[in-house]
Amino acid sequence: MANTDLIRSLIRDVPDFPKKGILFKDITPLLRDARGMAAVIDAMAEQVPGRPDAIVGIESRGFIFGTPLATKLGCGFVPIRKPKKLPWKTYAQSYQLEYGTDTIEIHQDALQPGQKAVIVDDLLATGGTAEAAGKLVAKCGASVSAYLFVIELGFLDGRSKLPAGAVRSLLTF
Ligand code: AMP
Repeated sequence: MANTDLIRSLIRDVPDFPKKGILFKDITPLLRDARGMAAVIDAMAEQVPGRPDAIVGIESRGFIFGTPLATKLGCGFVPIRKPKKLPWKTYAQSYQLEYGTDTIEIHQDALQPGQKAVIVDDLLATGGTAEAAGKLVAKCGASVSAYLFVIELGFLDGRSKLPAGAVRSLLTF
């Protein structure tokens, strides 16, 4: 089986989770498959442009893919977390949800001015989370060289919220 087919076969569709009308992309079958995970991290590494200074992972599934990717690339890993989880001084960024708003945070010293970062998450849906993550990187004075996802829900057009040409995903549904 080709690697993309293998990865695709390890994503489970769960209808009506966490609420009615949502088709949830469950990555746990992928996580428990060593060959599938190795294929994902290899494929993500191939999509990274140049040599980034850091991989920035979005809580919590961005951590699962971002940390092994950073180790493979030989660069650091930076977590973006939900409010009040990070212990040091933070920058915060709010973004719009269907109903209401959400906020994410980064440590102020996580990235140095002028550094290049790659933002990683498991899935790109509407793009609101990734867009807010990009703003946090900018608040640190760093820049985003790519936004990298395992899965992209193409019909939600999240990439239109992100800089043209900067979005990479392994699988599109
Ligand atoms: P968004 O800000 O709309 O792009 O949402 C992205 C975040 O929501 C990611 O961290 C995903 O893990 C999660 N997410 C959104 N939709 C789904 C879905 N259908 N299946 C699994 N995770 C999702």
